[in-house]
Amino acid sequence: MDLDPKALALFNEGYDKIVEGLGVLGYDVGDENFVGTAARAAKGFHELVLGQNSVAKEIEALLAKTFPAKYTEMVISKHNTAFGVCPHHLLPVIYRISVAYIPTKKVLGLSKMSRLVRLVARGPRLQEDLTHELATILHENLDSQGAAVYIEGLHMCMAARGVGAHEARLVTSAVRGVFLELATREEFIKLVTTPSSTLL
Ligand SMILES: [Zn+2]
Repeated sequence: MDLDPKALALFNEGYDKIVEGLGVLGYDVGDENFVGTAARAAKGFHELVLGQNSVAKEIEALLAKTFPAKYTEMVISKHNTAFGVCPHHLLPVIYRISVAYIPTKKVLGLSKMSRLVRLVARGPRLQEDLTHELATILHENLDSQGAAVYIEGLHMCMAARGVGAHEARLVTSAVRGVFLELATREEFIKLVTTPSSTLL
């Protein structure tokens, strides 16, 4: 996905200051390893926070490519690894996202589900909001009978900032439509939280 040159230039300015700050801390930022660091860091950060407009367009394109539903059972895409940053510290978050929906008339290809969750994750947003946004897309935009989302997030701001919570994982979930029924919700949670003993 295209990076925005204006945002990139601003991120670059910010990272120039960060490198300068590292110099204040006594690090040898004149060392050759720091040549071009600000520009690389800016690009790396931008890859974690994609432009809202391009994400919206790509989601629309993804959702436009559906297949007619042959059955109306639960479709699950489990344990997708995705990345984003938290809005409070702008530090990286590693997500493990499982999503499910029960189709009405159309189904989304499995690779599309995976692509969708990874796209939506790439922004500075709260894990709670990401959870709800994915559930809404899979229910309302996909016109399904219901959708469910289960996310585990490993937040660098909790794990690395000396809070002492090295294993800090935040778990959020959301359900829509038919998943509001307890049995369906429980089936989903069980399927996505049971460690797989077969396949990969
Ligand atoms: Zn944070």
